[in-house]
Amino acid sequence: MLEMQITSEKLKDVVKELERAVVEHRWWLHDWHRSLIFDLPINQTCFSKHAHRQCHFGRWYYRQSFPIPSSLSGFEMIDPHHRRLHKSAYALALKIRKGSVVCLHDYEDLIDKEWHFNKAVLDFKETLLKMLFEFDPLTDIFNRQALMRILQSEYARLLRTDASCCICMVDLDRFKSVNDTHGHQAGDAVLHAIAQFLSRELRPYDAVCRFGGEEFLICLPNTTPADAGGIMDRLRRGLASQKIALGKGGSVRITASFGVAEMLMDRSVEAAIARADEAMYAAKRAGRNRVVVYDASSGTWAPWEKDS
Ligand code: GH3
Ligand code: MG
Ligand code: MG
Repeated sequence: MLEMQITSEKLKDVVKELERAVVEHRWWLHDWHRSLIFDLPINQTCFSKHAHRQCHFGRWYYRQSFPIPSSLSGFEMIDPHHRRLHKSAYALALKIRKGSVVCLHDYEDLIDKEWHFNKAVLDFKETLLKMLFEFDPLTDIFNRQALMRILQSEYARLLRTDASCCICMVDLDRFKSVNDTHGHQAGDAVLHAIAQFLSRELRPYDAVCRFGGEEFLICLPNTTPADAGGIMDRLRRGLASQKIALGKGGSVRITASFGVAEMLMDRSVEAAIARADEAMYAAKRAGRNRVVVYDASSGTWAPWEKDS
C-alpha cells in the first residue's frame, strides 16, 4: 500500500496541473512546427540537451516535491517518452541548422515520439481519474468499492503468506439525533470531520472507507484481532474525547461502536465483513461506545479488554 496519503484534493490538483503542462507542451511543439514550415528561427531551447527539463512540462514533471507518490501506475512511463520526443526534436533542429535536407522519415520519427508521449500522459491521467472515482465526495476518504479492491488484494496476500489481517466496522452512535438537533448539513460536517479523524489516526498502510451512511470500514493488514481491538479502542477513546465542530458554529460530542473480525483463509472477504458487522451490533447491544472482537476459534463475540 502507498505510504504517502493521497487525498482527492491532491489528485484533482495533479490532474489540473497535468492538463495545463500538456497544453503548454503542445504550444511548444506548435512553435516548433511553425519554425519548420515557414523557415523561421528555431527556439534555442531545442538545441539544449536538457530541453526535456526546461520545457514547461519538464519543469512540472521533474520537480522535487510531487504531491502524490511517483510510484503511481504510469507516472514513470512518461519520462522515457518525453526524453525521446525532445531528443528527436533536437536531432531534427541540428539537421536544419546545418542546412541538411530533412526527410519524411525524420519528421515522422518526431510525430511518432509525440504520439507515444501523449499516450503515456493519457495512461497516467486515466490512473489519476480511476483513483478519483474511489473517493467518497462527502468525507474525502475511500468509498466502498475502493476498500473492496484493497480487501481483495489483502485476501490474496493472506492466501500467499498466511499474514493476519483484520476488518473493523465502525458505526456512529445515535447519529440521527445530530441531524434532528442540528440539521442535515451540520451532520454532514460531522461525518467529514470523523472520517478525517479516523484516516489521520490510522497507520499509513491501513485503509478506511465510508461503507454507508454513517458507517466506516477499516482494513488493518498484518494485525492480529487482539492488536486490532487495541487500535480500535484507541480510536474509540480519541473520538469520544473530541469536540467536533459543527458547520455553523458550536460543537458536538460523538461516540462510535466498533466490531472487529479477522479475515480467514477459508472464508470470503464478504463473510469477514459480515462478522465485523455482527460484532459491531453486539457492541451496540452492550450499550454502545465500545469495541467488540469476534473470536474465530470459539465463534463468539467478546468485548475488547486491555489484557485480552
Ligand atoms: P445507532 O446508535 O443505533 O447507530 O443510532 P443511529 O441514530 O446512528 O442509527 P440509525 O441507523 O438509526 O441512523 C443513522 C442515521 O445516519 C440516519 C441518517 O439520518 C444519518 N445519515 C446517514 N447518512 C447520512 C449523511 O450522508 N449525512 C447526514 N447528515 N446524515 C446521514
Ligand atoms: Mg448505521
Ligand atoms: Mg449509527
